[in-house]
Order: sequence, then C-alpha cells, then structure tokens
Amino acid sequence: MSLRPSKNVDQPMISSLTRAYERYTKQSGHWIERFVQQGGRVHCQAGCANCCSFPIRVSLAEALFTASHLTDTQLQAMNVHAARVMQNARTATSWDLYFQRHRTDIGFCPLLDQTTGSCTAYQARPGRCRDTYSAYDAHYCKVGTLEQMNRQESQAFQREIKTNPATDGTSHYIAPLEDMGEDIWQVASQSMQETWGLEIWGDFWVLTSLSTNEIFMNAVRAGNAKQAIKQAKKLGLWHIEIVQIGTA
Ligand code: SF4
Ligand code: SF4
Repeated sequence: MSLRPSKNVDQPMISSLTRAYERYTKQSGHWIERFVQQGGRVHCQAGCANCCSFPIRVSLAEALFTASHLTDTQLQAMNVHAARVMQNARTATSWDLYFQRHRTDIGFCPLLDQTTGSCTAYQARPGRCRDTYSAYDAHYCKVGTLEQMNRQESQAFQREIKTNPATDGTSHYIAPLEDMGEDIWQVASQSMQETWGLEIWGDFWVLTSLSTNEIFMNAVRAGNAKQAIKQAKKLGLWHIEIVQIGTA
C-alpha cells in the first residue's frame, strides 16, 4: 500500500500516530498472551467483522492518517458513506435512532471486504477498530442480537457481563484493551493542539472525507475554526453531533 504525500506540517503527527499504533499492537499483544495463558478467551478472529457496522468516533489526525493510505476508489467510497452518515444525522430524532439506523440502514464500513470479512485498510484503520475486542462470541456483536433478546435473556446476559472481570460490566467488549487505546487518543489530541492549535473529533467517514479537502485542511492548518466550519458546511459535511471543533 503506498502512502499519499501529506503536507510536511502534518508529517510529525502522522509519525506520532504510527508510533502510538505500534505501541498499542505490542502492548495489546502482550496483554492478550497473558490473558489467554490465564484461561481467558478473545473471540475476535480473521474474517470476523460484525463490529464493522458500528458508528466510529475518531480524531481528524487519525482520519488524516487513514486517508493518506487509501486509494482514490476507497476514498470515493468513504465520501459516499460520509454523505449517508450526514443524511442519517440530519433526520434522526434521537441518538438511539441514529445508532440503530447506522447499523441497519447504512451498514458496513466501505473499507470492509464483505466477501472475506477482512479490512482492506488494515494498516490504516483507526484506533477504535484496533482496540475493540470481544469477550464473548461474535454473535453478540451482530446487529440485532442484543436488541432482539427478550427481557429475561437480556437480564441474564447483563448479569453474565457484570461478573466477567475482562469487561467493564456494561458491555461485552474487553475493557483493558479498550483502555489501552486511550494512548492513541491522547497522542492525537496533543498532536492536533501542537500542529494546528485546534482539536477536531467526530465521525470516521466524515472526517476522512474532510481530511482530503484542501480548503478545509488549509483552514485547519491555519488554526481557523470558523473557516473550517464554513467549508465543512459548504461540502454538506457539517453537523454539530457529527463533527466537533475546539480551539486550544
Ligand atoms: S469485536 Fe466482535 S465482530 Fe468484531 S472481530 Fe471481535 S468478535 Fe468479531
Ligand atoms: S476501517 Fe476496517 S476494521 Fe475499521 S470499520 Fe472499517 S473495515 Fe472495519
């Protein structure tokens, strides 16, 4: 996979993220090894992709990292997905509806190869995709599984999760591996502050799309939040719940 040239000013940020991803791979690998030795089980495996239909929150730094690795065709698919995310955000009357429609109507990330269940941008995937591991069968990550449980099944599953030391008691994902991913978020936050004087967070597909727009990125690089918002609006990629811009 060839890297698209990024602006020199962003290069230290890309390098910091690369190191943070490498750190995560190493630390999570050690953690999983110990976990398995102690009898734990991580249910994620190659070709398993039920989690690739969740909404994903990232930093613009990570979106830029992902975009810099994608082909024109992949970027085009990300743009189409971003437009669908925006449409969902504009019409959803609640977070629950937005979330549910993201999974059922918008569906899988366009970077997923739905035939093999593999990520076509594995080396460029964001932290959220790297730190999501399930302590239970992939069936529980599938859209509709938890929603379709009856009250008794749901209560039994909640009790089960609460007693599992690998989870945080609220979801079936492995909490220490998620917590370890916070380093990536902190590196991104600090890099954005230092490089742009701005922090931008939001939807993975919308930010990846915005990160390829020269006018938007020039405004970001100038630390000009107002101009960045204006350009995002012009592109139809602005919604307060989808993109958040903060100054230092
Ligand atoms: S989080 Fe769930 S769907 Fe995703 S790889 Fe792991 S088990 Fe599979
Ligand atoms: S970037 Fe890859 S791992 Fe992440 S949601 Fe998309 S296909 Fe799945």
